Amino acid sequence: DAKVAAGYVFHVGKLASGSVAAGDSCMVKVDYERRHKIANNHTATHMLNLALRNNVSDDVQQKGSLVDDEKLRFDFNNNKPVNAKTLGKIEKEIQDDIAKSLGVYYKDVSLKEAKEIYGLRAVFGEVYPDPVRVVSIGKSVEDLMSDPKAKENYNLSIEFCGGTHLDNTKEAESFAILNEEGIAKGVRRILAATGKLASEAIARAATFKARVAKLDGVKEAAALEAQLGELKREVDSVTMPTVAKSEIKDLLAKHSKRVVDMGKKAAAANKKKAVDEAVQFVKAKAAEGKNACVLKIDVGADTKALTEAVDASLKAEPSFSMIVFSSDDGKKKKVLAYAGVSKDAIAKGLDAPKWVRESLAICGGKGGGKPDRAQGQGSKIENLAQAMAKAEELAATLG
Ligand SMILES: [Zn+2]
Repeated sequence: DAKVAAGYVFHVGKLASGSVAAGDSCMVKVDYERRHKIANNHTATHMLNLALRNNVSDDVQQKGSLVDDEKLRFDFNNNKPVNAKTLGKIEKEIQDDIAKSLGVYYKDVSLKEAKEIYGLRAVFGEVYPDPVRVVSIGKSVEDLMSDPKAKENYNLSIEFCGGTHLDNTKEAESFAILNEEGIAKGVRRILAATGKLASEAIARAATFKARVAKLDGVKEAAALEAQLGELKREVDSVTMPTVAKSEIKDLLAKHSKRVVDMGKKAAAANKKKAVDEAVQFVKAKAAEGKNACVLKIDVGADTKALTEAVDASLKAEPSFSMIVFSSDDGKKKKVLAYAGVSKDAIAKGLDAPKWVRESLAICGGKGGGKPDRAQGQGSKIENLAQAMAKAEELAATLG
């Protein structure tokens, strides 16, 4: 660390070995590689400060910042989260500033004159030295001072700052916003990276996006659900630009909806197939001279499908009687039954509620309804075959 006090620069360090005494001479060496990374992030902080003013609000002010060789953290006042679209614009603006290879300039200027610069950023409450160091991006401090009130100055990053900076924005290589969050009432925090870390995050997002794009070609519900689940579990653990992550999450949500739609379509198709099969079955039995049947169809706990199967079949064969079963072995085990009885059969003593009740009793179930239509539900799926045998027995009493 280095500190300035009483006109001296103090370098603070730890003694690794040997000893030092007052009056010893020493050599100070800068770790340029680390310093460059810090300068990258610091210059990016200035660009971010401007981009926030350009894209969020003229009232955005710096509330704190932390710059190291890995990341930059910037706190600012804003009473709501910065949405993904705006974060995307900010990120793009800084990437563009890097691509434009803008010069980064600094110079000590008298405090009074420097304060005249239009659009200048200074941290409120901070005491600045006189002369003060002005750091400007895209326009030299001399040019600024020649016309401090110029309107265009508002579009430039001009700050009072004593920190380490790049000479040119292109040295930052890349920029990525990695997170945006609230840290206190009315204060937001952006975490971002430059250089290799930013490029790597951007590359990871591209790879992930390519994997998500492959989902478009998956037309089968179970396969889509499996691949989607894997990507959903992974997405939060991957460090990538927050804007890209939000886009990816939107895409994943779209595919989740596709899975639901596929499920609905499959259920509708399954229901139609079950109803059609019941109608065909009843027609065939009627053609054989039968007047009643017991049938199981595969519609799970879909009561409406059972009703439809019976109504459609008996519409085709009005003098026929039938009882249809279906079972659902999901979390809650269910056996459903629905019976439809013709007028003739009622006259001969076949009662729909009784037919349902006595058959379903074997499955631990109950039922009720009117003489021509009744329904019921039980839970012992394992006894379904016996229940159907009982239903056959009751139907046989019709002769
Ligand atoms: Zn600074």
